[in-house]
Amino acid sequence: MIVVMKQNVNEDRQNQLIDWLKGMGLGVHVSSGEYQTVLGLIGDTSKVDMDLIASLDIVESVKRVTETFKCCNRKFHPEDTVVSVGDVKIGGGNFAMIAGPCSVESEDQIVGIAKAVKAAGAVLLRGGAFKPRTSPYDFQGLKATGLELLKIARAETGLPIVTEIMSIADLPLFDDVDVLQVGARNMQNFDLLRELGRTNKPILLKRGLANTLKELLMSAEYIMASGNEQVILCERGIRTFSDYTRNTLDVSAVPMLHELSHLPVIVDPSHATGIARLVPPMAMAATAAGADGLIIEVHNDPMHALCDGAQSLKPDEFEKLAAKVNQLRGIL
Ligand code: PEP
Ligand code: MN
Repeated sequence: MIVVMKQNVNEDRQNQLIDWLKGMGLGVHVSSGEYQTVLGLIGDTSKVDMDLIASLDIVESVKRVTETFKCCNRKFHPEDTVVSVGDVKIGGGNFAMIAGPCSVESEDQIVGIAKAVKAAGAVLLRGGAFKPRTSPYDFQGLKATGLELLKIARAETGLPIVTEIMSIADLPLFDDVDVLQVGARNMQNFDLLRELGRTNKPILLKRGLANTLKELLMSAEYIMASGNEQVILCERGIRTFSDYTRNTLDVSAVPMLHELSHLPVIVDPSHATGIARLVPPMAMAATAAGADGLIIEVHNDPMHALCDGAQSLKPDEFEKLAAKVNQLRGIL
């Protein structure tokens, strides 16, 4: 249920209403916008007397929210959420270019790529240290050492780091990581999501291989209901009967998620296509669809990459793409 307050209401009276609602065992999410304050009620609202609340002179209107996702629902929070990572902002008109290799392989590799993507306009550095691989015989990532190498690359370039966490048990290792990525395969690892909701770090939540938008939003809800509202949604392609690409990029997810939720939405054209030459056109399509950012795999030597070389751009290709994306954003 949402309660839309009248403009410029007396704060004490608003707080009295909030306390009264909390006294009924409800959670109250307060969204104070520039023009309007909206109270989002979470919990069993079946016994709440809507007419009574609507009759209060400080209340503009009361509506039931039928969707099962509440905290991430735009009805609860009409204005875009802006996620901050140091000085970098994502959402609400702020566009973030995130780039880096699929996996951290060595100090030279990650530092070199970090410098190249920064020069091309990336504002965050990606790189996997813990890798969710389909085969247990494939490179599994440098793990804790990979995280240390990412921190070296951050120290060298100033770029905040984004990296995937696969297990709650590893959480202490991620203390000094800027953005925690939940990969497609873990989108419905509810224990992990709940635990990440207890941290104060931005979470980049990727859509699962075969998950609906509602399921993605419910996963964001797990994080937010545990107290962490800094969630970035990521469309990274889904399984369809497409036979020539790794996945199918659901471009329409961008405007649809923006309609349903106030959270920023970014797109990963690398995992969506699996083919480097398809990354630029899909990155442009995602930008045109209103994405709040892109996360792109870049490797200095894709032919010898330990993971996802086929979909990795070379630094000069990334530089060209970043310039085109900027141009496109200029005319949107
Ligand atoms: C990744 O970002 O390297 C990755 C494994 O992505 P996804 O979870 O989308 O497959
Ligand atoms: Mn990858």
